[in-house]
Amino acid sequence: MTQEATAKVTREFQAETKQLLDLMIHSIYTHREIFLRELISNASDAIDKVRFESLTNQDLLEGNQNFEIFIIPDENTHTLTISDNGMGMTYDEVIENIGTIAKSGTKAFLEKLKEAGSSADTDLIGQFGVGFYSAFMVSQKVTLLTRAPGQTSGVRWESTGDGTYTIEECDKEQRGTTIILTLNPEYYSAEHPEENFLNTYTLESLIKKYSDYIRYPIKMNFVTEEKPRDAEGKIIEDAPAVQQTEVRTLNSMTPLWVRNKNEISTDEYNDFYKDLFHDWEAPMEVIHSKVEGVVEYAALLFIPAHAPFDLYHRDFTAGIRLYSRNVFIMDNCKELLPEYLRFVRGLVDSPDFSLNISRELLQHSSQLKRIGKNLEKSILKTLETLLSKDRAKYEEFWKEYGNALKSGVYADYSSRDKLQNLLLFPTSHNADALTTLEEYMNRMPETQKVIYYATGKDRSSVERLPQMELLREKGIEVIYLFDRVDEFAIDSLGQYKEKKFQSISRANLNLDEIESAEEKKETEELAKEKDSLVKAIKEHLKNKVTDVRISRRLKSSAVCLVSDDAGISLSMEQILSEVNKSMFKASRILELNPNHEIFTVLNDLYEKAPDSEAFKDYCDLLYGQALLMEGIAPEDPISFAGKIAKLMAHKQ
Ligand code: ADP
Repeated sequence: MTQEATAKVTREFQAETKQLLDLMIHSIYTHREIFLRELISNASDAIDKVRFESLTNQDLLEGNQNFEIFIIPDENTHTLTISDNGMGMTYDEVIENIGTIAKSGTKAFLEKLKEAGSSADTDLIGQFGVGFYSAFMVSQKVTLLTRAPGQTSGVRWESTGDGTYTIEECDKEQRGTTIILTLNPEYYSAEHPEENFLNTYTLESLIKKYSDYIRYPIKMNFVTEEKPRDAEGKIIEDAPAVQQTEVRTLNSMTPLWVRNKNEISTDEYNDFYKDLFHDWEAPMEVIHSKVEGVVEYAALLFIPAHAPFDLYHRDFTAGIRLYSRNVFIMDNCKELLPEYLRFVRGLVDSPDFSLNISRELLQHSSQLKRIGKNLEKSILKTLETLLSKDRAKYEEFWKEYGNALKSGVYADYSSRDKLQNLLLFPTSHNADALTTLEEYMNRMPETQKVIYYATGKDRSSVERLPQMELLREKGIEVIYLFDRVDEFAIDSLGQYKEKKFQSISRANLNLDEIESAEEKKETEELAKEKDSLVKAIKEHLKNKVTDVRISRRLKSSAVCLVSDDAGISLSMEQILSEVNKSMFKASRILELNPNHEIFTVLNDLYEKAPDSEAFKDYCDLLYGQALLMEGIAPEDPISFAGKIAKLMAHKQ
């Protein structure tokens, strides 16, 4: 140490440091609590350093290897002290490290901060590692005492953040660094306990939040008051309370995710999950992966046993927690996983995420994208395994999160192929079981050209649809879609293994291969014969339907509505009109059952008097009925009811 170094000198901060300090003190109002995380991270790094170097040089330990970080709030002096027994710094190192901004991350932060200007009290600071200087956000004075191992004296550094600091030699017994923050009064006020940095419980919760997995114990003295107990252990009520000081370790230290999978019990995973994500139930599935190579990370992901009630709400907070070398950086990082996996909880720890990263920077991070892709793959793989190995459990999963996966099919083009084999549907095959598309394909006769589906409120309403009759008679399996996302998903899939999806409510059923030539001929002949009747009905309903035709698909029902092969379907029209008064209209084609009694009556009425009121009423009633069976109210319910009443009275 040089001679002049021993005396107290005042020095100026480097210009950029001054700027940073200034901005930090005057422009940032939120997340000031992160100063604690920053100082604890520095302390932990310093301990890492001495521990590592002591492997080749035992002397550095100076006989003390109880590595620890101590936090001391002092109500009397209004100071908060953070002390470590790490590597410490020499006089020159203090000048080098604490007086200048060497880190590019800090520089980037400074630039961001300047850009944000007076609106800098955003989320910005929470996302950046701003290092040692963040101490000035809450302190009127920062004092640093440090001694590097092997040095006979220590260094005292002090600043009020006004552009200069003092530095001098001092005595320091313990190796390492002690930082004493003389807090600004607003940070020890009892009125705002969440920002009272002398309150042991506030400190404890901040340490749990930000620094729980720091590898060294973070300790603090807790003063408790308790009345003394008698010989039998009973509290002596009238005795005065006795103060006791107890040292507690505030962090849990071992990051579960860095440990080996085969050393971790299910209970440990479950407890960890419940603790971190405040869930009272164990997760349904745990996915723990560690990857080294081009990207390096450890990920611990969980599928909660139950979907949160607000999973499908717009303001649901999804996302993964990010850590960098066990230090918490950010919560709810949405950028990591695709939207359809928003129900997955968990964390990712990667040395590739630096503490100095903002959400905006993260979005463009190629590392993050790569990690995200890997995670998506391993989640899907886990689900595939679950589906093939434990169907009952997969169906439970499906009950909770099926709609999220379905939304992935239509929201994200690139996810379709990945997700199609994970989809489950109820079908006409078995009322008690769900079916994968592959299972459907395996059961379908070779002659069947398409995969049929029907939409409706529930199983019984779909099964009563007139359009189901022919398919049921032919023994063709139909997939049932009950949820509003279903049809969107099926529409986006378009096909599965080269078989197109086909709604049973479309004009062309694609039944050619299944219908016999005779059956087809019969229909065509009948249609020719009844051509004028059909034309008359079409003429009367011309503002309501695009076509009227004789149908073979109906067995016991008199009529049904179908829509064109192109364009939106009737059920989609209903969904869209609920969302917004949609202009989209499905085409309506009225199909008539030529073997039904009503058809004969209609035919008689027409032959008797094609212009009669009775014939027209019948046409309207048939159309109204067809709408009702689709769950759509007739366009003019009053007139519809009037016509029924007339008919009923007439029959009497
Ligand atoms: P960063 O931690 O990102 O490097 P900081 O501004 O927090 O930036 O710290 C600057 C430097 O000061 C650190 O790199 C380290 O060398 C030194 N330093 C800070 N705190 C300590 C500490 N508790 N013990 C030893 N060195 C420290």
